[in-house]
Amino acid sequence: MPSLQPGDCSELQQTLEHHFKWFHRHPELSNQETGTTARIQGILSAAGVAILDTGLKTGLVARIGPEGNGKVIALRCDIDALPLTEASGLDYASEHTGCMHACGHDFHLSAMLGAALLLKEQEQDLAGMVKLVFQPAEEGGGGAQQVLDSGVLDDVREIYGLHVASELEMGLIAVSPGATYAAVGFFRLIIRGKGGHAGEPHACRDPIVAAAQIINAVQSIVSRETSPLDQVVVSITHIEAGKTWNVIPQEALLEGTFRAFSAEKLSAVAARLEQICRIIGEMHNMGVVYQWHCYTISTNNDPELCEFVVDTAKTLGLRVVPSTPQMGGEDFALYQQRIRGVFWNIGVGSPHGTHHPGFVADPAPLSTAARLLAALGRRTLERG
Ligand SMILES: [Zn+2]
Ligand SMILES: [Zn+2]
Repeated sequence: MPSLQPGDCSELQQTLEHHFKWFHRHPELSNQETGTTARIQGILSAAGVAILDTGLKTGLVARIGPEGNGKVIALRCDIDALPLTEASGLDYASEHTGCMHACGHDFHLSAMLGAALLLKEQEQDLAGMVKLVFQPAEEGGGGAQQVLDSGVLDDVREIYGLHVASELEMGLIAVSPGATYAAVGFFRLIIRGKGGHAGEPHACRDPIVAAAQIINAVQSIVSRETSPLDQVVVSITHIEAGKTWNVIPQEALLEGTFRAFSAEKLSAVAARLEQICRIIGEMHNMGVVYQWHCYTISTNNDPELCEFVVDTAKTLGLRVVPSTPQMGGEDFALYQQRIRGVFWNIGVGSPHGTHHPGFVADPAPLSTAARLLAALGRRTLERG
């Protein structure tokens, strides 16, 4: 076992790169991360780190530090991958067809393993307990809610998490108070028309024409009904209607997402979408079924703890800049609804953004991320 003192980057870095490349080659989709979980468990157990009994089907929560009445804090990473075919050209590219670590969760979990190794070496000196959350199913699979429902975080007073950022210079840390990841809504619309012969449109009610008008009309929610200073997105991302060229179909399906930085704005956009869909449906004498749900609220970084993250990063000699709000969603927000916390970014220098088949998280800043996670754990406990 190599010595893993903070600052002893080269050995820690080598260990973490080795783990990272294995996880990158073996991605698993949300709620199916059994191989990933087993591998994490094996690495932690070999290092003598205790695993808590949470009842989670995938993912796990480990513990470092004494049990008892002391302060309990949490560090969180996510472990799932996306249904994408990798086109990175890496020699350690995904071996699972149609599945790829395109959001950097392999980086997050490897950095967290590094933090576990570092904290384990200091376990006797810790002023409380650190729970290390390897969360499943961040990509729309309800992972944060599963962890919260398990009750394992009920005694946790602060929580910290990280996400890679392709646009940031390698190893640069970015963090800001307030909302940095958006609240995310999902909607599905079914337009019920009347199918028939494509040569007799007058005898049908064509759901494709109604769908086209809805797609155009909803664009004005952002362009003409939202202040240019507000951050709102409405995107229709999935259309299904018809199977062939000479049949008018019975139904059309539309799905999409809408995003904003407050729950009120998200609900207002959801209501306006519903109204536009219903009115255009009525105009065409068609029924519409509109459903939506809030996938996640916006993140909310505690201002005081945000200062603490900046200060901790600086004690490690890291460069820190303010983060730029983005319209991506993060279910870390669900933890922040109940626990004070901060979600920060680290630059990984990818040529493409996350969720792109060419996304590459450079493993070079893994030990940096691990050292910052470990320092946040240790210093949070020291603060009392
Ligand atoms: Zn993602
Ligand atoms: Zn992600």
